[in-house]
Amino acid sequence: MGRVAVGLAVTVAVAACAVAAVVVGRRVKSRRKWRKVVNVLRELEEGCDTPVGRLKQVVDAMAVEMHAGLASEGGSKLKMLLTFVDNLPNGTERGTYYALHLGGTNFRVLRVHLNGQRSSVLEHDVERQPIPEHLMTSTSEELFDFIASSLKEFIAKEGDGSNISTNRRELGFTFSFPVKQMSVSSGILIKWTKGFSVVNMVGRDVAACLQEALARKGLDVHVAALVNDTVGTLALGHYHDPDTVAAIIIGTGTNACYLERIDAIIKCQGLLTASGRMVVNMEWGNFWSSHLPRTSYDIDLDAESPNPNDQGFEKMISGMYLGDIVRRVILRMSMESDMFELISPKLKIPFILRTPLMAAMHEDNSPDLREVARILKEVFEIPEVPMKARKIVVKVCDVVTRRAARLAAAGIVGILKKIGRDGSGGITGGRGRSNTKMRRTVVAIEGGLYSSYSLFSEYLHEALNEILGEEIAKHVIIKVTEDGSGIGTALLAASYSS
Ligand code: ADP
Ligand code: MG
Repeated sequence: MGRVAVGLAVTVAVAACAVAAVVVGRRVKSRRKWRKVVNVLRELEEGCDTPVGRLKQVVDAMAVEMHAGLASEGGSKLKMLLTFVDNLPNGTERGTYYALHLGGTNFRVLRVHLNGQRSSVLEHDVERQPIPEHLMTSTSEELFDFIASSLKEFIAKEGDGSNISTNRRELGFTFSFPVKQMSVSSGILIKWTKGFSVVNMVGRDVAACLQEALARKGLDVHVAALVNDTVGTLALGHYHDPDTVAAIIIGTGTNACYLERIDAIIKCQGLLTASGRMVVNMEWGNFWSSHLPRTSYDIDLDAESPNPNDQGFEKMISGMYLGDIVRRVILRMSMESDMFELISPKLKIPFILRTPLMAAMHEDNSPDLREVARILKEVFEIPEVPMKARKIVVKVCDVVTRRAARLAAAGIVGILKKIGRDGSGGITGGRGRSNTKMRRTVVAIEGGLYSSYSLFSEYLHEALNEILGEEIAKHVIIKVTEDGSGIGTALLAASYSS
């Protein structure tokens, strides 16, 4: 070999070594960065951990807070609002009744025909429409005129007009915001939630605003009941199954109500009802306890929200927020590594990832997680996400949803514990311990998160079994009531119009 050839060979070898060193260096760097992603995930898992011991602490905290909220006004973050609903529909109701539903994403008008016999399927008509966004922040007159007009159009479509009754119509108004009720048919708005902020409404009687708007439209319709959506759900649940004792909503927001003994409502001494009971609207979205597993993502989400330190439970559980918790985790991963090659600016936009799309990624069963890649591209404009990053994203969705579902389950058991239906003969409020055997107990449930996200409902059921134990869990039945809040409100209009 000549000198030149040797020289060339050495140069090539050196260059090859240099290239190899760069490649190895990059790999080491990339592995180190990937380790950071894995660490973020591990931290998230630890932060969101909900072993059964911790869930039981949440159960106890819920029961304790319920007591405190019933003992005095402002005694707890749980408002434990009186509803003045002391009788739930039982199937003997007759006639045609209406309901208007304002609360989440859709506005609904309903009509229910009752023949005095409990039927498994209730004959009803319903019309839904999205609430025009500008009305969510308009004036109360504009909002209520829109509602009244919708009812007017709905009524105008009834038959050819010849068989329309000229009698006054009775209507229930489902209004799923916190209201301090004065009676079953009146109540003042405490605060707006879920993105609504109509001016000059807080402190005003919601039913009166509606009644005035109905009059402006020339409608002879009487607002017979003003009802929180959870109470409507409970009413329909009870109509179908008298063992129903509580109702939960898990949709855009979350809330719960249940049937309480009147003597346990200590803050209202002297309150009497024929049944000796009353439905209490817990406003459980605002529940808080130091036992809740809170992460830095929750803290940031809360701090950046329009209502910091408010609705803490809701922000961990409900459909409005889950997608955004996931977005925050992915953003952090992306910032700490080259997981997605570059940091997409879209990752920084709050609420850009909606919970239904997060659920679709979580439930992607394709072998190459095609749906995950598609959604990451569609929502965040991140192209060609590598397989291992797709897997991590699915895992993040899993951790966030599992925690939400398990906490919701703990909340439910907290209610059961408060009313002595958790099989432990635990706190029964007022009259000491009951030793009665576990009775069949039905909880009505409604809302898109529970009914459309099957992994969420599976995790919720799994946690109920873990907390209660299989023997007792057998007696607790979770029943989905579709359109329950609206139909139930019409049923309450029937009960309370006479
Ligand atoms: P609302 O709570 O607004 O009255 P719904 O009970 O229908 O209405 O719940 C709608 C919410 O449920 C949505 O905001 C969304 O967060 C959640 N949701 C709806 N569909 C799905 C789905 N397929 N997967 C996960 N969450 C869903
Ligand atoms: Mg709803």
